[in-house]
Formats: sequence, C-alpha cells, structure tokens
Amino acid sequence: MQRRHLIGAASAWAAAWPLGGSADPLPFASPALPARIRASVDRVIDIGVCTRPFRLQGPRIESERLFGKTVVHHYGHGGSGWSLSWGSAAIGALPLIQATGERRIAVIGGGAIGLTTARVAQQAGLRVRLYARERPPEVASTHATGMWTPDSRLCALAAATPAFERRWEAMARHAFRSYQQLLGAPGSPIEWRDGHVLSDTPFDAPGAGDHGLPGEPEYPDLMDLIADLRPRSSPLRPDQHPFKVAHARRFTQMVFHIRPYQRMLVEDFLRDGGEWIQRDFQHARELATLPERTLVNCTGYGAKALFNDPLLIPVRGQTARLIPQPEVTDLLVYRGHNLVVVPRRDGLLVQAQDPQDFNNPDHKVVRALTDAAVQRLASLFA
Ligand SMILES: Cc1cc2nc3c(=O)[nH]c(=O)nc-3n(C[C@H](O)[C@H](O)[C@H](O)COP(=O)(O)OP(=O)(O)OC[C@H]3O[C@@H](n4cnc5c(N)ncnc54)[C@H](O)[C@@H]3O)c2cc1C
Repeated sequence: MQRRHLIGAASAWAAAWPLGGSADPLPFASPALPARIRASVDRVIDIGVCTRPFRLQGPRIESERLFGKTVVHHYGHGGSGWSLSWGSAAIGALPLIQATGERRIAVIGGGAIGLTTARVAQQAGLRVRLYARERPPEVASTHATGMWTPDSRLCALAAATPAFERRWEAMARHAFRSYQQLLGAPGSPIEWRDGHVLSDTPFDAPGAGDHGLPGEPEYPDLMDLIADLRPRSSPLRPDQHPFKVAHARRFTQMVFHIRPYQRMLVEDFLRDGGEWIQRDFQHARELATLPERTLVNCTGYGAKALFNDPLLIPVRGQTARLIPQPEVTDLLVYRGHNLVVVPRRDGLLVQAQDPQDFNNPDHKVVRALTDAAVQRLASLFA
C-alpha cells in the first residue's frame, strides 16, 4: 500500500486524475472548450461550513450494549461520508443490526450516513424510525462538495491494515454499484461529469500538488485498490483548454447534486413507511426512553459530544455557491491551490480550505477564504 504524501481534499483529485492514466494527449484535436465560469465575489449566494467527522482509526462501526439497548455505532466517515454511505451501511452496519433479530429499529441522525442506513435497513425489510436534531438541508452533510471520493480523509496510514483495506474495498465497490443504479433517477441527483485538473508544475513532479493541513496524518492510497472503477484521465495540450496554467488533464468523475439527492432519500424513506421525529439528545442516557431496542448511531461529528468519543477529530471545510450557470458542466480542480469547483444545479460550488482547518470545530464562516478562492478561480480564465 502506497503512502499519500499529498492531498487535495484528500484523495479526491487522485480519484479524479489517476496518474496511471494515459500519457498521451486526447486523440482529438480540440475537445469542446468548457463554458467560462463567471467567477466574481458578488456572485456568491451562500457559504456553508461543516466539519468532517474524522477518526485516525477509520469510521466506528461496532455495536455495544447501553441502557438495556443495542447501539450500533455508525459514524466517523471523514471526507467520505456520501461516497461510502451505501457500502458502509450494507456491509458494515446492516449485519450488526440484523444480528439483534429486531424488526423495528431506530436510526439516530439524518445526514448522509443516517439516511442511507435507514434506506438499507428498509430494503432489508425492517421498520425504521429516524430521530434527528436537524433534517436536510440543515445537516452538515449538505455542505459537502459532492464528488465520489470514498477514501477522502477516512483513516490514517497506520490504520490501513490488510483487513481494513479488504473491508474498505468491499464497501467502496458496493457503494459504486449502488450509485450506478441511481443514475437516471428523477431529477438526476447522481451524474458523471467531465472536468479539468490544472497544475503549475508537471503532474508527476515530486512534491507537487496539494499538501495536507498542518497536523494532518499521512493517508493510505486506497484508491489503488479500485483503480478499475475509475475512467483514465488524459493530458491536454495548451490548445486543448482555455486555462492560464502550464499543465492540464481531462478527467471524468461521479458527482452528487446533494440537495435533490437528499430530498429523494427523505421521500423514499417516508414512502416506504419510515417515520421522522425531530429530537435533540443532550445525553446518551436519553436513548433509554426510546421504544426501539436497536438503535443505530449515525450522528456524525455529533457523536463526540453525545457518546463522548475523544477520537473524533473535526476537519473543518468551507463551501460556497456562486449563482448557478447551467451552461457550466465541467468540474475544475486547481492542484497546489486547494481549489475545487463542482457545477451543481444549486450553484457553482467552490470549496476553500484554510491551513488551520485540521482539528478545528469552528463553524464560523470566513468570508475572506471564499473570496480568495473565487479570485483564484477568476485568474484561471484568460
Ligand atoms: C468541505 C467538505 C467537503 C466534503 N466533500 C465530500 C465529498 O465530495 N464527497 C463525500 O463523500 N464526502 C464529502 N465530505 C464529507 C461528508 O460531508 C461527511 O462524511 C458526511 O457529511 C458525514 O455525514 P454524517 O451523516 O455522518 O453526519 P451529519 O451530516 O453531520 O449528520 C448527523 C446527523 O445526526 C444528527 N445529530 C447529531 N447529534 C445529535 C444529537 N445529539 N441528537 C439528535 N441528533 C443528532 C444531526 O442533526 C444530523 O441529522 C465533505 C465534507 C466537508 C466538510
């Protein structure tokens, strides 16, 4: 297993442009040029902050007896919550839920992990009641970038034992297959999109790219295990792209339109008999009052306070939306500058990362961070 010395929102970009991809420029002379992004700070319509629930040892997926109930813990998916969700629910949480023999269960939490765990349990024939303090779009998951990055800030290199890797691979492959089934769903919440990854230095130059935040561990390069699921990227000649950078590659990536996707999951859950109850648990012992005997804890970063988990590390992230431009369909990644743009129907999502974001639970918006990212984006267009 290789180390990942560089990250760019962890492995997202490695997923996007596997360097094992083609060394040859695209075979056609001039691929359709991407539409120009109107990148200016007065077009920012929303800025959100959320914390990735990161654990050095990887997500916590195990059950314990508490207050006369079985609590199946299912949280701590770092920067991979949306991407791994279906696999983590089906391969990690569901067997633990089924082992209790209960037909009615409670899921605590309605973010990426809670929603998909509830759906997987329903599909397995269980009745599910979901309790959560916030519902979409108020949940932290809403502010994710929306790319399929199943190993992004998921565990430290030291935790990637062969057993962990085998399990991760099974989950990632399951999640990938699940998402292919959702292509073409009403409102197209899941899509494959083309994009450009840009760099000032050659892609294979040692030390080039996005480095981790101060304090971050090294991450394992898990994406190597599922290289066959990723389309190959191709280098572009200067006349094949419109950007003011020295190096560019074209890649293809699966993206999530998070808001319509959340809506679809909630509607499917309610249609299949799910019940949603707004509830804020101040202390884990309040769970003893619930009628269900099997509870699945999908509280994400909330598990730190609720279950006193000292191992959960908040990795702050800030995403902004620019006024939607339906003509812009291509993703953009500017390597070495931590700049990522995902064109979604609810706006052009621009991610900004601050050097202080590792182990930072602060939810305050830093406007200057977004403005700098938008200005950097503007500078890419000649
Ligand atoms: C900037 C950024 C970009 C990201 N980009 C991506 C990406 O492109 N792809 C990807 O796969 N992942 C991405 N992620 C990671 C992803 O967002 C997380 O892994 C995911 O949101 C975790 O989901 P969750 O359901 O565990 O937590 P949450 O979304 O936080 O949901 C937790 C739920 O539990 C409830 N809850 C918590 N505490 C309590 C309590 N005490 N009582 C009652 N209810 C409670 C909350 O109300 C909520 O409903 C990104 C994260 C960030 C910060």
